[in-house]
Amino acid sequence: MEKKNTEAEIRPLLRENIRNIVPYSTARDDCKVRMDIYLDANENPYESGVNRYPSPHQPRLKQMLSVLKKVPEKNIFLGNGSDEPIDLIFRLFCPPGKSSMVQAVPTYGMYSVAAAINDVRVIDSPLADGFRLDADALLSAVEPDTKVIFLCSPNNPSGNLLDRDAIIRILDSFGGITVVDEAYIDFAGSESFIGMLERYPRLIVLQTLSKAWGMAGLRIGMAIADEYVADVMSRVKYPYNISILNQRKAEELLSDPVGAADRTAVIIGERERMAEELSGLPQVEKVWPSDANFLLVRFRDKDRAFDDLMRAGIIVRDRSSAYGCEGCLRITVGTPDENASVLEVLGAAGRDASGNVPGTSCGIGAREGTSGRTASCLRKTGETSVCVRLDLDRFRAPRVATGLNFFNHMLEQIGYHAGIALDVFCFGDIATDDHHSVEDVAIALGDCLSSALGNKSGIGRYGFSLPMDEAEATVLIDLGGRIDFQWDVVFRSERIGDMSSQMFGHFFKSLAEHLKCNLHIRAAGTNDHHVIEGVFKAFARALKTAVGRCSGSDTVPSSKGIIE
Ligand SMILES: *Cc1c(COP(=O)(O)O)cnc(C)c1O
Repeated sequence: MEKKNTEAEIRPLLRENIRNIVPYSTARDDCKVRMDIYLDANENPYESGVNRYPSPHQPRLKQMLSVLKKVPEKNIFLGNGSDEPIDLIFRLFCPPGKSSMVQAVPTYGMYSVAAAINDVRVIDSPLADGFRLDADALLSAVEPDTKVIFLCSPNNPSGNLLDRDAIIRILDSFGGITVVDEAYIDFAGSESFIGMLERYPRLIVLQTLSKAWGMAGLRIGMAIADEYVADVMSRVKYPYNISILNQRKAEELLSDPVGAADRTAVIIGERERMAEELSGLPQVEKVWPSDANFLLVRFRDKDRAFDDLMRAGIIVRDRSSAYGCEGCLRITVGTPDENASVLEVLGAAGRDASGNVPGTSCGIGAREGTSGRTASCLRKTGETSVCVRLDLDRFRAPRVATGLNFFNHMLEQIGYHAGIALDVFCFGDIATDDHHSVEDVAIALGDCLSSALGNKSGIGRYGFSLPMDEAEATVLIDLGGRIDFQWDVVFRSERIGDMSSQMFGHFFKSLAEHLKCNLHIRAAGTNDHHVIEGVFKAFARALKTAVGRCSGSDTVPSSKGIIE
């Protein structure tokens, strides 16, 4: 793809003193080869785990986030909480005393605090009824000295996603920087604006590890932005803004995205339950629908509600002074027990006798309740960290992130076409080579499938053939326990998408070994993409049939080559 010259577009928006800023440099920055003895930074040479300065660029953490967010590392800036990028946005783009920012109120308080600290005038543009974003109203609040617009979606404290088209209209019309703060995006069933960066280099998306990822104590926030913007931000930040301990802990916690997604699912289920139960309380006037992990609730007597909760040891946030939030408390969704306590205090029926969480259709609760053909594994090697989970008896849209776009796409085919719930996350050094990532995913997936199948009762040997436009693929599989792998697939070019073609044979070979199956794959065609996509789909369909429970039979069926 042709690279846009975004610098030409962004540079004039920067404050003059920032345009040519020379960042603090370290000797290690300039040195590409690995050294053995570090005598460049006046550190203490005695090892304590923290005697060295941290990496100023947080490469490992960025690599993991790049996989998860599906953006190149160069588009990611990491700060000490989102507070840091918020402050930096003012420092980069807003001359003190001579500029303004527009925010859609009610909204997050840090924007106006950071603006005040940087001597930037704050213009409030009220959201419409139901906290809807009206693009025209907001744009009409913009003044000649307005450099930045802050939008928060899902919005704090109202909880709702802002209208996507309204945000796009603002991006189209406003010539300065537009910030979309997505601190709560993981609780919303909506796509991030990260995907719009390519089209709108003046957009900055903020996300954080503080909420859905559960790392508020680590203080790690991110700006996902045009590469030039991210670069200028890192030139202006404190050089060592994220400590070694915080980087390491975040890397550790990020390597289990499945666990984080489960907890998020429980919180979303609890949010819906709380919204419903709170709405039924006599003292509650209104509960706004929420796409976040909190609820904005209007009480007939909010002081009384606040005090009642306080006396029970429960602290919530009084947002009654915010625009449009008269009489409102903002209540964060807690654990099921904590939420039950809130309801109990506020006079609801409280928890059901069993203490069960009603209404969560997915997540931890559901996982415990399944028939058992599930498996998960966390596989860490020197090169990669892989996290796979599957459920053979339930379908859910696959969640896949490996850092390799094409591989993601193929693994998703397995989830969709086998009709199983499949999560695959892989963090590896794909910049060097895709070999380890592909192989380790195959091993983890094979192990998981094998373990989910257990004693293989009711499953068997099957095959599937399908055309993919001009290409044709056939996959035969026998889950009987003997391992044999045959691969008769010829590709025309060395690479398909961002992967080397030869890795696909290797993937299925490793998979067959760990799933302990006979796997025979044959495919041909003139378009490599069609050929391999056909293989993955045919594999998924063969797998679907093979793992499907044959009702009334506990034995492995022996009729071969059943073609649907
Ligand atoms: C919680 C929150 C953040 C996150 O702040 P951190 O400094 O990253 O913890 C950002 N924006 C909004 C709107 C928030 O509510």
